[in-house]
Amino acid sequence: MREEGYPLCRRFGFDDPARREARLRLVDLAPGDAEHLERLRREVLEPRADEIVARFHDHLSEDPSYAGVMARGGDPRRLQAAHRHYLCGFGQGYEGLDYFESRLRMGVVHAHYGVPAGVYLGACAALAGLVRRAAEEALPADARARALCAFTRLLLLDASLVMEAYVQAEVAELAELVAVERERARTDGLTGVRSRAAALESLEEALSRMALERVPASVVMVDLDGFKAVNDTWGHPAGDAVLREAAQRIRAAVRDFDVVGRYGGEEFLVVLAGTPLDVARRIAERIRARIEESPFAVGDGRIELTTSAGVAEAAPGEGPAEVIARADRALYEAKRAGRNRVRVDLG
Ligand code: GH3
Ligand code: MG
Ligand code: MG
Repeated sequence: MREEGYPLCRRFGFDDPARREARLRLVDLAPGDAEHLERLRREVLEPRADEIVARFHDHLSEDPSYAGVMARGGDPRRLQAAHRHYLCGFGQGYEGLDYFESRLRMGVVHAHYGVPAGVYLGACAALAGLVRRAAEEALPADARARALCAFTRLLLLDASLVMEAYVQAEVAELAELVAVERERARTDGLTGVRSRAAALESLEEALSRMALERVPASVVMVDLDGFKAVNDTWGHPAGDAVLREAAQRIRAAVRDFDVVGRYGGEEFLVVLAGTPLDVARRIAERIRARIEESPFAVGDGRIELTTSAGVAEAAPGEGPAEVIARADRALYEAKRAGRNRVRVDLG
């Protein structure tokens, strides 16, 4: 059987016939149920569809969440047509992929319109009550009991599939929220480079890789020269703009896989995984040159800026704090030697 046309079945694993069968067993659908459902459909659901749907909608519109769903683009007429279609085709082909796909889609659509799961389940119960009442008038007692029993089982099948899609939608939404929050925490709000915490995490990773794979790792500490004067002369907002630009220049001076983090005010930590000291020194020199090469535009003015950098390669067994401390020491040497230069810590 071609299953490319059943994306939701694939996503939820119901493209596997064994899973569909297991679900039917779970709701206890029996071999004769198709027949009972067919009778219910022909003698109750189809002839009384308009009446049942109208009452069902009266019930739905009493729920406060209904207005919300409509405000999110729900259309009452289309909804009624969909419910009519649902009733008139109730139970037809329930073992097949088309059926499972359509029920999973119902779940996705309900989640999309923000119908609370409890409201959906409440609506199922209400629909069951309406169908029961309609069947009382249309079917003899024994046939009615069998048909309603099959109806309940199938409604349960539908609800199980709808809820499965719901839960998945909820989980996906939560996962997205978590990812957004995580990314926010990993990014420095002002400059857009990695946060201090994220850069330190990258350094930890680089150091574990060093131990496991015997590759080198280096760091560069970068601190803008005389930055206090930028703030004092041009004001703090201008200082912020310069910081943003400096961060972008540093980012542009390193390789894609290098990590640039804002370590403190106007101090950046660059993590160079798999990189030995001489390469790290060249990268630091490139950063220094990028900051110096052209003035920073601030309003109508232009600011000449330089930066100092300290470089250190991690020694075996060293932790993040120790490598950073050595890079910091080299940075201090660069400042002391007159700024606008790179100094390397030789261990
Ligand atoms: P040095 O060459 O010795 O580094 O001199 P400096 O003036 O840059 O000295 P230092 O690095 O100690 O000063 C950091 C200054 O950066 C102090 C503070 O006003 C400024 N700064 C820190 N964070 C921010 C920020 O988020 N925005 C702005 N505009 N300025 C900041
Ligand atoms: Mg500084
Ligand atoms: Mg500083």
